[in-house]
Amino acid sequence: MKIELASSYGFCYGVKRAIDIAEKHQNSFTYGPLIHNKDEIKRLKEGFNIGLIEKIEDVENNNAIVIRTHGIPKNELAVLKKQENKIIDATCPYVTTPQNIVARMSKEGYSVVIFGDKKHPEIKGVVSYAENENHAFVVLDKKELDELPLKNKVALVSQTTKKPADFLQIVNALILTHKEVRVFNTICNATFENQDAASELAKRADVMIVIGGRHSSNSKMLHSISEQQCKKSYLIENETELDANWFKDKELCGISAGASTPDWIIQNVINKIQEINN
Ligand code: SF4
Repeated sequence: MKIELASSYGFCYGVKRAIDIAEKHQNSFTYGPLIHNKDEIKRLKEGFNIGLIEKIEDVENNNAIVIRTHGIPKNELAVLKKQENKIIDATCPYVTTPQNIVARMSKEGYSVVIFGDKKHPEIKGVVSYAENENHAFVVLDKKELDELPLKNKVALVSQTTKKPADFLQIVNALILTHKEVRVFNTICNATFENQDAASELAKRADVMIVIGGRHSSNSKMLHSISEQQCKKSYLIENETELDANWFKDKELCGISAGASTPDWIIQNVINKIQEINN
């Protein structure tokens, strides 16, 4: 059986950068998981003594705190600074961009619309940068726009992982109903590159293995895209979850991995599949 990796897979630029930053700051803490991958978080703990703090009330004074790729709300950042912690900012620059736009446009008197998921950590962070949170609104569907007390001047940004076609629906609805609409395309392409590559490979593969955290929406999406093209698609976190039966009588095994999956886990999976097939 042949094993083929998707032409684009695994860590995106923002995640690679965050891990590099964390590795350079041994004996620090991350506030919230740095990325959605528990094996990588364990490696950072064991190899670099980088701890994890889940709640703001558990942060003690004078620590070195690494801020995760998705960013954190402005008020929480202020609390960390007040406690005289050393802040090491690993927020992805593609996430800092909408944070800055929201701050600037709300200061200039625009109502701000954020296309995204209210509960997502990135969006909780982005919305917090509005000068006046009463004029900043998070929407997932264009129908929600009708209910909002928007001014005539509206600025629009998107969660980095949203689909461009869905973003356009919000753009179109706003343009038809408001005098001035400033549109900022803050979508990041990294996710789509992995998705397109997984879909292309899954069309040809007899079995697809998608490696990623079960809590990573990005990995779950890759698995679902893969499954549309190849019924025998499996989402696993690491090599211990592989089942030898999946590979019986198969000619091509495709492999893809979520944006939070490190190369060392991907390599372990490949080694184990090769072992099963020998
Ligand atoms: S997916 Fe894009 S926005 Fe998110 S961390 Fe990666 S590079 Fe940054």
